[in-house]
Amino acid sequence: MSTIAAIATAPGRGGVGIVRVSGPLALKILKDVFRARDGSDEFIPWKLRRGAALDIDGEELDDVLAVFMPGPRTYTGEDVFEIHCHGGPVIEQTLLRRVLADGAREAGRGEFTKRAFLNGRMDLSQAEAVAELISAPSREAARQSLARLKGYLGDAVAQFRSEIDELRALAQIGVDFPEDEVPPIGDDEFSRRLDSVIAAMESLAKGAKRAKIAGSGAAVVLVGRPNAGKSSLLNAFLGDDRALVTDIPGTTRDFIEERVDLDGISVRLIDTAGFRSPDSPPADAVEALGVEKSRAVARDADLILIVVDLTDAPDNNTINTMARDMAELSGNKNIILVYNKSDLAAIPHKLGLEDYPAIRVSAKTGENIDGLAALVRSRILEDAPPPENGLAPNARQALILENAINEARALREEIADGLTWDCRLGRLEAIAAALSEITGLNTYEQTLEQIFSRFCVGK
Ligand code: GDP
Repeated sequence: MSTIAAIATAPGRGGVGIVRVSGPLALKILKDVFRARDGSDEFIPWKLRRGAALDIDGEELDDVLAVFMPGPRTYTGEDVFEIHCHGGPVIEQTLLRRVLADGAREAGRGEFTKRAFLNGRMDLSQAEAVAELISAPSREAARQSLARLKGYLGDAVAQFRSEIDELRALAQIGVDFPEDEVPPIGDDEFSRRLDSVIAAMESLAKGAKRAKIAGSGAAVVLVGRPNAGKSSLLNAFLGDDRALVTDIPGTTRDFIEERVDLDGISVRLIDTAGFRSPDSPPADAVEALGVEKSRAVARDADLILIVVDLTDAPDNNTINTMARDMAELSGNKNIILVYNKSDLAAIPHKLGLEDYPAIRVSAKTGENIDGLAALVRSRILEDAPPPENGLAPNARQALILENAINEARALREEIADGLTWDCRLGRLEAIAAALSEITGLNTYEQTLEQIFSRFCVGK
């Protein structure tokens, strides 16, 4: 293993800058570049010492603090040292050059953490959590990342894994015994144990939605006929006139996305623009919603607002059919019907006869926009409740978990259909392999590259 070095603090000027070095040459390099104030070159592990950092010519560069941490109980599992210098680019760069001249090489993105992972200091879910914690956009996301960093998710997955391994062992006994002998475990008991792992995996997987929302905000998509008032609503939400609004249908050409904070819930409002073909306006909103691009946006939405013009509203049956079709098209059942232009509607449309929550608003006068904001917020929270024990998988982990759950469900059905023990083994192995990918016991180099390329240098 080579010795790697990096400036661990962010570029620019700051009070303190940290140069970090890890690898077999760490102690030798530290002794070369650091001269302790008390003259001794013995380092007490984990104890900060004050002294001078020297440049390539041996000239004093800065007044610094240095710490030596001997492996293997360090972040990377190797010998590590850090020099805390003044946070100026010249000082940091000169110090780094000095260290590189002494035999270290510059670390790549996330290389310290990759070494921690490869040396068994943390599992992959913890390594990912390091980068996630650093780039957490909200307090909630930071909290979830910390729980993963502490290894709680890895622990939960290891528990599923050990139960699956036990079931594998039992299935193996089933394979090894001739048919006429007493089976090692009854199908009922086997299924019961499998069910309990499935339930535990499902409960963990449920947190994924909330983790996504905490990380990137909830995607709330506005759909509806041209001129229903989608861009006006977006503006009303934002409280200014940023989106272009006219009464010529289809003015808003592309998707417009704006962020709002609804009481701690970050929301990405996406206006899908008017759905219409240039010569023939769509016969109804269902046809309109069929536009492929908009459908894709709606599919990724956490909540869909179907905007209906109250001055031109179809009857409730038609609206229910529209909403159901939208739910089917987009695969998202989290829908709110927004009846807009309440200031113009002389005859009130009968609300509450729909299968979906509905609300009357006026984007123009601002009537009930606060009510809509509150409804949006509560629908998001209801659909994505906080995860149990604050433990939520990230997108990669959720995808793998879903695979494991699907395999387990398939196995469950096959047992009911009388599947043989050796066939069960195949499924159980697939579940175990999937679970191992979460903690990185069984992860391709390519995946690792992808994960660590998201890091900053020096971590
Ligand atoms: P979009 O095509 O769905 O984005 O619709 P727009 O937001 O561009 O609105 C179409 C027209 O309806 C514009 O002339 C708006 O001023 C008008 N409009 C939108 N919301 C309201 C409302 O609540 N009340 C009234 N009176 N007009 C509205």
